[in-house]
Amino acid sequence: MGIYETLGVRTVINADARLTRLGGSLMPEPVLQAMAEAAGNYVDMHELQLRVGQRLAELTHNEAAYVCTGAATGLFLSALACMAGSDEQAFADWPNLPKREIIIQKAQRVPYDLAVRQAGAQLIEIHGDECPLEEVLSDAINPQTAAVLFIAGEHLSQGALPLPTVIEIAHARNVPVIVDAAAQLPPPENLWRYTRDLGADLAIFSGGKDLRGPQASGLIVGREELIAACRANGAPNQRLGRPMKVGKEEMLGLLAAVELYLSQDHNARIAGFERTVQYWIDSLGHLPGVVAERVFPNEAGQPTPRLRLTLDPAQAGISGAELRQQLWEGNPRIAVAAFGTTGIYVTPDTLAPNEETIIVERIQALLQR
Ligand SMILES: *Cc1c(COP(=O)(O)O)cnc(C)c1O
Repeated sequence: MGIYETLGVRTVINADARLTRLGGSLMPEPVLQAMAEAAGNYVDMHELQLRVGQRLAELTHNEAAYVCTGAATGLFLSALACMAGSDEQAFADWPNLPKREIIIQKAQRVPYDLAVRQAGAQLIEIHGDECPLEEVLSDAINPQTAAVLFIAGEHLSQGALPLPTVIEIAHARNVPVIVDAAAQLPPPENLWRYTRDLGADLAIFSGGKDLRGPQASGLIVGREELIAACRANGAPNQRLGRPMKVGKEEMLGLLAAVELYLSQDHNARIAGFERTVQYWIDSLGHLPGVVAERVFPNEAGQPTPRLRLTLDPAQAGISGAELRQQLWEGNPRIAVAAFGTTGIYVTPDTLAPNEETIIVERIQALLQR
């Protein structure tokens, strides 16, 4: 019996997205090996964090890098770094810090921005409903401003200023820019694009999404001084980041994941996803009451395709919401994303080999009943 089975927990074929509630992603062998090896020795955690960070900085062409327990922790530590730097004295009166405002564009509000408020920051939401957004951003910056937070992703760009404009306006007033790029891989070049190429001060990536590192890992890259401040506020120091401690296993697991990620041919990977989506269209598109389409980019704005099935319940005998429910309740358990109540999205990039065929068979069976 498998370890999940013993507990009465059913495993899932994940054709939805790299979601924390489904376990993030599946770690490849080199990552598992690195974590197992890391677990076998005691080590000076300060030294390990520093060396792993230096290696990750080299690999990602950044000044500095830091491993934390997830992109949400990355937001928390980045906010602290921009609000008060490394100086412990600065936190004596926390959260009453002299600089504690972090500006965010309304179009880019995401549930994760709570992590910034958790650090004691006051989020200042700006929008361009009445005035040009460039002016609104510039006017919002004041002596209390600690940073501008930019949430990257094609799906959040509507009605938002582009990153280069945000950087130009913020830097003109000596305010750093934090980029939440948690799900913006592939392409791997994004590991240095926001910071080295576009000039953002910090960029944050999730270790448990496309990088396929440990689920409880995240990567912050960017300016040396700010990364040093993230380090100062994080474990093993007894500071505000202590409850979100990162283990030696996550540090070395994430390093192995980044090394592997940078050695992969991502165009070939994406070409494979295209073939899977085409196979799904060919296998399901002719069924009565079904429209099968390729949609692009995916839900997080990543440059990978998905399948969208739209159902006419009168002909298909089932609604989109019912199909999604039955895939989840059936055996094997399959997770797909909802397209309202009329259809579903099916994602190729989260699947293990051969699962694309199981999905086709299950959907065909449910639609032909
Ligand atoms: C997934 C995600 C996060 C959180 O990432 P974790 O590594 O799970 O903490 C934060 N911001 C955005 C935009 C995300 O998509």
